[in-house]
Amino acid sequence: MPPRWLATLQQAHRCFQCRLWLLLCASVLLATQALAGERALDTSRMDNRPVSLTEYFAVLEDPGKALGVQDVQRPGVASRFTGGTASGESLNISYTASAIWLRLHLQNTSAAPLVRMLEIANPLLAELTLYQPVDGRGYQALETGYALPFAARPHASRFFVLPIALPAHADQALYLRVATPNAMILPAKLWEPQAFHAHERSDYVFQALYFGAALAIILYNLMLFVALRDTSYLLYVVSAAFSALTVAAFVGVGTEYIWGDRPQITMLATNVSLAIALTAFLLFTRRMLFTAERVPRLDQLLKLFVLVNIAFCGLLVLWFGHFARLFVINYALTAVLLLVTGTVCAFKRERSAYYFMAAFVVVLLALAMLSMRQLGILPTNALTTSGAQIGSALEMLLLSFALADRYNVIRREKEAAQQRLVENLRTSEANLEERVAERTQALQVLNQRLEALSTTDGLTGIANRRQFDKLLANEWLRCTRLAQPLALAMVDIDWFKKYNDCYGHQAGDECLRNFSRILAATVCRSGDMVARYGGEEFVFFAPATDAEGALNMAQKVCEELQAAALPHAFSIFGIVTASIGVAVMVPREGQDPSALIQAADASLYLAKTQGRNRAVLAAMVA
Ligand code: GH3
Ligand code: MG
Ligand code: MG
Repeated sequence: MPPRWLATLQQAHRCFQCRLWLLLCASVLLATQALAGERALDTSRMDNRPVSLTEYFAVLEDPGKALGVQDVQRPGVASRFTGGTASGESLNISYTASAIWLRLHLQNTSAAPLVRMLEIANPLLAELTLYQPVDGRGYQALETGYALPFAARPHASRFFVLPIALPAHADQALYLRVATPNAMILPAKLWEPQAFHAHERSDYVFQALYFGAALAIILYNLMLFVALRDTSYLLYVVSAAFSALTVAAFVGVGTEYIWGDRPQITMLATNVSLAIALTAFLLFTRRMLFTAERVPRLDQLLKLFVLVNIAFCGLLVLWFGHFARLFVINYALTAVLLLVTGTVCAFKRERSAYYFMAAFVVVLLALAMLSMRQLGILPTNALTTSGAQIGSALEMLLLSFALADRYNVIRREKEAAQQRLVENLRTSEANLEERVAERTQALQVLNQRLEALSTTDGLTGIANRRQFDKLLANEWLRCTRLAQPLALAMVDIDWFKKYNDCYGHQAGDECLRNFSRILAATVCRSGDMVARYGGEEFVFFAPATDAEGALNMAQKVCEELQAAALPHAFSIFGIVTASIGVAVMVPREGQDPSALIQAADASLYLAKTQGRNRAVLAAMVA
């Protein structure tokens, strides 16, 4: 007898105007019917495409982990199975301490026995048991999971693959019991064996491609680190290596090829490697984006998250069950922090941030593609299935580019700095040269002044005796060569002691200055030379001057003094006068000027004794 709702439907079917409305009602009713229990899957109608089992599962939670396959079939327990609510690629139960029972209703409506492959594409399930009915002998258990050795897997694969044999006209309920400390995500698919093997082959090629690319990038950057000694490369290598390890653990390649039958490592690997990768990546980001200088506040947060991620490494190793869930929050927060840092730095026009953001966007797009596939928006194919790996590989490449770019930028900055250094050196060299020139000039002026000081008499400003002696010697030689007469006169102020006594020493000095001015103004032919010989005695010589001319010059001095009329109360003349002894000779080889000086001195003595204020010419010296 047909159900009552169907009869109603058939009746209403006759009403053409209501057809659309009724179709809608029918679909709602069908959906309600489906919610009541799991749908049966006719495995004989499958083609080469896999069938996602999510919507076929009825789920039962076993918090005490005490139920056996007989228990879950008992009416009281069996009625607690719920099903048909989930859809998409995987049944996501997340972290749970309970065991999860899944009931699967499989049919084989064909007349031939069938084999199907049940693939659960999550390697992070510790315990996984499939209970399959065996004709009349109850259930046969097929055990797998990462807690068991890899060799014990019914099918050697990175994921868990369980063969299911269905006799002709079978209509069976299969049970799956799953327990794991990791996130319980169950992407279960049923495959036709040939199709599965074809898929598996291409899938492994893709895995090899990804890990090969990752290894190449990592080794290349490791070599760059060895060559360039820039810590950024090392941080990048650590981050990329542990990211690849995370992926390896996540896709089951780790257990199959890297660390083998070490369930503890399989359990920890995704989260702990990710924590290490994040720590290295946070440090890498700080260096790449110069966050300490550009965004100091975000830099503080980055440092905090470095510590948090390091702490998580330890916490996960010690208490995985307690901290695995919390780590997901840490992971999300770290990702948001990195994204914000990248965005802010990109807005601040930090070059590396563009690559950084591009890498991030690629990863986000890959994750979005993965989610859209899981939600059924995108088709399942090699591209969409491997979104995470493609994203990860592209991210590695882009960040590798960022490093290369950073190297370029640093090199350019270094060159610019060197250029600046060279320019600075040039400028300072020029400055130095200028200063040396200035100092040299100042020194020359100083030397000239010193020279002048050493040749000039300090009181009167005319040449001193030293200078006189030097120039007289020169003149003597010159006149010797030319056989010319040289005239010399010694001049002594009369009664000067008394002048000092009468007017004081300062007035005496002033008198000496005035006297020397008059003398210098009178004896001023070119070649003539006047000097202070010492005390109140002066001297002058005149080259190419005969005795008469020399006497005239001396008398001219006396006359000029007369004309100047400098008062001298204690002189019989009432004014300052001088006595002058004049001598003239033609110098000859082998003689020196001392004879000339003595002769002039003797004449001066005569002038004094003859009454002063006069010039006396010595007889021509031989
Ligand atoms: P005479 O007519 O015989 O030359 O008599 P006099 O007083 O000029 O001779 P004397 O040699 O006895 O004295 C020279 C004086 O000149 C003595 C000294 O006080 C003075 N005298 C020497 N040098 C300086 C000087 O630099 N400044 C001043 N104010 N006086 C000086
Ligand atoms: Mg004297
Ligand atoms: Mg005197």
